[in-house]
Amino acid sequence: MADKKLLVIDEGTTSTRVMLFAPDGRRVASEQRGLTQHYPGPGLVEHDAEEIWTLSLECARAMVAKAGGADRVAAIGITNQRETIIFWSRRTGKALAPAIVWQDRRTGDLCRSLQEAGREAMIQAKTGLLLDPYFSASKIAWALEHWPQLKQAGADLLVGTVESWLVYRLTGGLHISDATNASRTMLMNITSGRWDQELLDLWDVPAAMLPEIVDCAGEYGSTDPDLFGSPIAITGMAGDQQAASIGQACLNPGDTKSTYGTGAFILTNTGEKLQHSKHRLLSTIARQIEGKRHYALEGSVFVAGSLIKWLRDDLGLLRDAAESEQLARTVEDNGGVYLVPALSGLGAPHWRPDARAAISGLSFASNRAHIARAALEAMAHQTHDLMSAFAADGARWERLKIDGGMVANDWLSQDLADMLDLQVERPHFIETTALGAAMLAGVGCGLFGSLDEASAMRGEVEGFDPKIDAKLRETRLSGWRDAVRAVLRD
Ligand code: ADP
Repeated sequence: MADKKLLVIDEGTTSTRVMLFAPDGRRVASEQRGLTQHYPGPGLVEHDAEEIWTLSLECARAMVAKAGGADRVAAIGITNQRETIIFWSRRTGKALAPAIVWQDRRTGDLCRSLQEAGREAMIQAKTGLLLDPYFSASKIAWALEHWPQLKQAGADLLVGTVESWLVYRLTGGLHISDATNASRTMLMNITSGRWDQELLDLWDVPAAMLPEIVDCAGEYGSTDPDLFGSPIAITGMAGDQQAASIGQACLNPGDTKSTYGTGAFILTNTGEKLQHSKHRLLSTIARQIEGKRHYALEGSVFVAGSLIKWLRDDLGLLRDAAESEQLARTVEDNGGVYLVPALSGLGAPHWRPDARAAISGLSFASNRAHIARAALEAMAHQTHDLMSAFAADGARWERLKIDGGMVANDWLSQDLADMLDLQVERPHFIETTALGAAMLAGVGCGLFGSLDEASAMRGEVEGFDPKIDAKLRETRLSGWRDAVRAVLRD
C-alpha cells in the first residue's frame, strides 16, 4: 500500500485538477482543464454538470495511467467548490439542468423576503449560516420552481453538491454527500448532522432527492470497473476550504488558515463544540470522522486575488500579478492611498452586497505603485477586520497559516505578519486543498491511522515574523477604517 499513490480530484470553480500524491506528501503528477463559465444574465453563473464530469474523468484517466494503472492507486479523494448545486436523473445518471454556481445571485429577492419574514435567526441557529444567495438551499428552491423538467422528473430527480455528483458518476449510482459539503446547503442541522425537516419545509425540498450524509473519510464505495480498468476505492471527501484547513493541519481548536485565491477564506477550528457567531461569521463543519464532528468559524472575503486580476486586465495597471510585489517595494509606504475592494460588495464581517469599491487618498504625488501597494495592503486590512470579529467571538488567533495563489507574493505574506502582529506560516507546497483531500483519502483507506499521522504530508513551512512597530500599524488601520466607513456610508 505504501508505494501506491493517492489520486485527488480537485473540482474548482474555474478548473478541474487531478493530482497524484505519494504518501509522503510529494505531488507526483497533475492534470488540469479549464471549466467553461456560463453567465446567462446579470448575477447569473452556471456550469455544465456534464462538462464537470467529462473533464474530471479525462484528467483522472490521465493520472491513473501515470500511476501505472488502477492497481497502483491506493484510493481517491475528492474536494470541490462548495454550495454549487447539480440536478440529475436517478435512472440515467445524466444532468437535468445547469449547475447553479455558488457565485450566482438570482435568489437575492427570495433570501431578502425570508429575512424580512424574520427567518434568519432560526436558520442561523440550525445551520450556522446567514440568509444569503451564496448557499445551496435557495438555489434548489428556485430551480424546482422555475425549471419544469425538474418538476416533471418526479421521483427520478436527484440533487447534490459537486462531490455528490462526481461520486454518483464514478460509482454508477451511490448518492452520498460528505458532512462539510452538506453543511453549506442550508438544509442540514449542523448539530445533529442530519437533513432538517423544518428547513426542508421552509425551502420546499423533498428529502427523497437528497444524498445520504457521510463522514469525510471512509470506504464509501468503488469506481465503476469500466472507468479505469479495475475499481478504485473512494475514501475521502471535503469541501475546498475545509480540505485546505486539513491540508494546513488545522486539526485542533484555535488553529487557523487563510486561503488567498480569487477570494479569501479564513477558517478557525473551534473543536467539537459548535460555536455560534455574534459577529456575522459563519459556523460550519470542519470535518466529520467516525461520526464525530469538528466545527469551525469561517470568514469569507469575496475579493482577494480577483482584485489583482482586475488591476491587470481591466485597468491595465499591472503586466502580471507578480508585478504587484515589485511595484509595492518601489515606494516607502502607501502615500495615504487606500483601496477598499468591494467590487462585488463586502463579505464578512460586513455582509453588504450593495457596497462598492473605492480608491481614496489620491494626490498628484500618487502613482501606480501606490495603488498596487494599496491593493496588496487591502488583504492584510481585510484579514485584520476578520481577526477582530473572530476574537470578539472568542476565537483568538495565535498564528496564521496561509496559502492560495496570492501568497506566492513575499511582500504580501510579510505585510500580513506585520499588520496582524502574528507569526504567519506558509507551507512550501501551497496546494493545500488537494493535499487535505489526499490526507482524508489516506485515512479513509487505512494508509494512515489518523489525520494527525497524515498531517506529516504537509512538509516544510516558512515563517514570517512581525517587524513593524505598533504606531505604524495603528496609522494604517485608522486610514483603512476611514476608507471602509466612507464606502459603507454611500
Ligand atoms: P483560485 O484557486 O481561486 O482560482 P488561486 O489560488 O490559483 O485562485 O490564486 C490565483 C489568484 O492569485 C489570482 O486572482 C491572481 O491574481 C493572484 N495572484 C497570483 N500570483 C500573485 C502574486 N504574485 N501577487 C498577488 N496576487 C497574485
